[in-house]
Amino acid sequence: MESFNERLNLALNLIKEAKRITAFTGAGISTESGIPDFRSPGGIWDRYRIVTFQEFLTSNSARKEYWAMKRDLFREIESAKPNRAHLALAELEKIGKLNCLITQNIDGLHQEGGNSSDIIIELHGTNRRANCLECGKTWPIEDIQARLEKGDLDPRCDVCNGFIKPATVSFGQAMPVEDMLRAFQCAATCDLFLMIGSSLQVEPAASIPREAHRAGAKLIFINRTETPLDFIATVVFRENASDVLDELVKLLKQSA
Ligand code: NAD
Repeated sequence: MESFNERLNLALNLIKEAKRITAFTGAGISTESGIPDFRSPGGIWDRYRIVTFQEFLTSNSARKEYWAMKRDLFREIESAKPNRAHLALAELEKIGKLNCLITQNIDGLHQEGGNSSDIIIELHGTNRRANCLECGKTWPIEDIQARLEKGDLDPRCDVCNGFIKPATVSFGQAMPVEDMLRAFQCAATCDLFLMIGSSLQVEPAASIPREAHRAGAKLIFINRTETPLDFIATVVFRENASDVLDELVKLLKQSA
């Protein structure tokens, strides 16, 4: 592998030459904001098991287990602030170098970091809101968190008594079709694809970088650990996302 500076220069040139850049982020971009990812040691799956959507719908105990996990996750997300990687992506958009931002994250930190909602596609939904699965009533997540903190273990809708669920996509739940189509289109029409902080183990999201590659885009991967798709990337960084993106945007602005 080339030195960090050599890889930075390679990536910088790719960004300068690119006409349409799509970024694709996973839990790894938010670890430096204090939100653990799923698969690293100490991550969420070390502490909780996955409750599928079917279990959520059919089992009282699974639903309580799900909400206990969410209550802890909300506490972590509530105090999290965008880090230098989120801010660098906002800067990239501001200088006209980012057309589309696809995220698997549910933490809302890209919006808070300054990227516009128009270019963000939240493939797995958002933890910032909750909906009633029966009547569709929506609450800011803070309202539901307040109920959880008061000891409500299985919050129900005050209108129809339906199950309340965060507006996220659980395992076993259908992906939002329009967002998926838009994401694949962004991948297929970009000439540079930035993949940041994803183990690329979750389908169908992991197929998105593959689609960019198939359509002829160059790819830059920024991920602490190896991914099954590293071989399709032109440049691979194992450094922290914030260090790499911050440096790249600084260099880009200096050379403008
Ligand atoms: P993942 O946990 O499978 O992989 C994260 C990857 O990021 C790992 O390969 C890790 O090596 C890398 N990483 C961690 N910190 C990094 C850093 N500072 N710089 C560079 N790389 C870093 O995450 P995933 O692929 O996004 O899939 C997990 C699923 O969990 C997604 O569906 C996502 O919705 C959800 N999730 C979201 C959040 C969040 O919203 N912040 C947090 C946990 C999980």
